[in-house]
Amino acid sequence: MDFSITREQKEFVEEVKRFGSTILNNKEDLDKFSYDLWMKIADFGLLSLVTEEKYGGLGESYLTAAMCIEALGYASRNNGLVFAINNHIWVAQNLINIYGSDILKEKYLEDMGSGKKIGCFALTEPDSGSDALSMASKVHEENDCYILTGTKMFISNGPIADIFMVVARNQEDPRKFSILVVEKDFIGVKTGNDIKKMGLNSCPTSEVVFDNVSIPKENILGTYGSGEPIMNAILEWERCYEFAPHVGAMQRIMEECCKYASSREQAGKKIIEYQAISHKIADMKVAVEMSKLMLYKIASLKDQRKNAFLEAAIFKLYVSENYVKICQDAIQIFGGYGYCEEYMIERELRDAIGSTIYSGTSEIQRNIICNMVNALIV
Ligand SMILES: Cc1cc2nc3c(=O)[nH]c(=O)nc-3n(C[C@H](O)[C@H](O)[C@H](O)COP(=O)(O)OP(=O)(O)OC[C@H]3O[C@@H](n4cnc5c(N)ncnc54)[C@H](O)[C@@H]3O)c2cc1C
Repeated sequence: MDFSITREQKEFVEEVKRFGSTILNNKEDLDKFSYDLWMKIADFGLLSLVTEEKYGGLGESYLTAAMCIEALGYASRNNGLVFAINNHIWVAQNLINIYGSDILKEKYLEDMGSGKKIGCFALTEPDSGSDALSMASKVHEENDCYILTGTKMFISNGPIADIFMVVARNQEDPRKFSILVVEKDFIGVKTGNDIKKMGLNSCPTSEVVFDNVSIPKENILGTYGSGEPIMNAILEWERCYEFAPHVGAMQRIMEECCKYASSREQAGKKIIEYQAISHKIADMKVAVEMSKLMLYKIASLKDQRKNAFLEAAIFKLYVSENYVKICQDAIQIFGGYGYCEEYMIERELRDAIGSTIYSGTSEIQRNIICNMVNALIV
């Protein structure tokens, strides 16, 4: 696989880093969603990276997009906002771009790229998380529309979203699922209050209730009942691109640790000279490089329109667990200062822990990996 990076890609990535570090790092923006920042991000072009040009997008390759999102995670400490951006792009807008009809593309893509409309993905329910297919939400056909009933839980961007990608079971044939494109203003849609979490609070999260919501027949991804393979593809997108910024964040934290350990002295030595410290930094570098390789591999596969379900599960598991470990090691390297709010590493750890849960927990990724490997070998 060829990951040689062009001059244009390098320049774009540098631009993203400059934008992220100068605009997205104000302390007052870290705990609440900012519409002002959202519009700046849209104006920069980040929300429409891979959208087709005829719908106002930049039409970039998935590899370029992966590098840009990684760069965003490197440049910005506002992990919640970056999470909100990625939920909007990869599990809402990009789905319409790939699986939507021309009518849906016309209807939503331009407004989503310009930041006017915010998207989200609603799969999890109060009683079905890891076992998502046991969901209770159901949909049936009625004349010229679909009727949706159900409750979704932990929906990132839920309180601010205009467009919900909702997975529901077909009432006529409960073995089948459909993915509906639901607008906030459709009668019967109710979003809950922002749920206070241990991190990522600049990405609001809520329950969303769909009470006999009537949805026009054109507002469906694929066809009625064809939702399961699309849902698997959605999970693949999110396990790659929602974790791309964490690769950048890991690199940023590693660099901060290097600088600190090279200046902090104890017992007459820079602490980086103690092997117990330097090996932690070496392990961080290994994790960053391995993660980058996997990210670029998946992005290249997506550019070739190939499946990457196993690769995305491996990447998601590896990145999330190393992101948490790197944050813990960083706190250890910074000692007492690392434990204090001012140094922002404890915040990073609180943000990172969520990554081992959302998009399927670490346990579920291990199940997927073993099942797929076993199927290939036995
Ligand atoms: C910050 C955040 C954002 C999220 N955003 C969204 C979103 O935008 N849209 C959305 O639909 N959902 C979202 N989620 C929900 C997320 O996908 C679920 O929380 C996750 O899939 C786990 O489901 P659960 O919380 O119901 O836990 P459960 O499924 O109840 O699991 C509890 C524990 O049991 C373990 N477990 C369960 N089944 C198995 C098994 N078969 N083998 C081994 N262990 C198992 C789990 O690994 C976990 O440790 C978000 C969650 C978080 C934390």
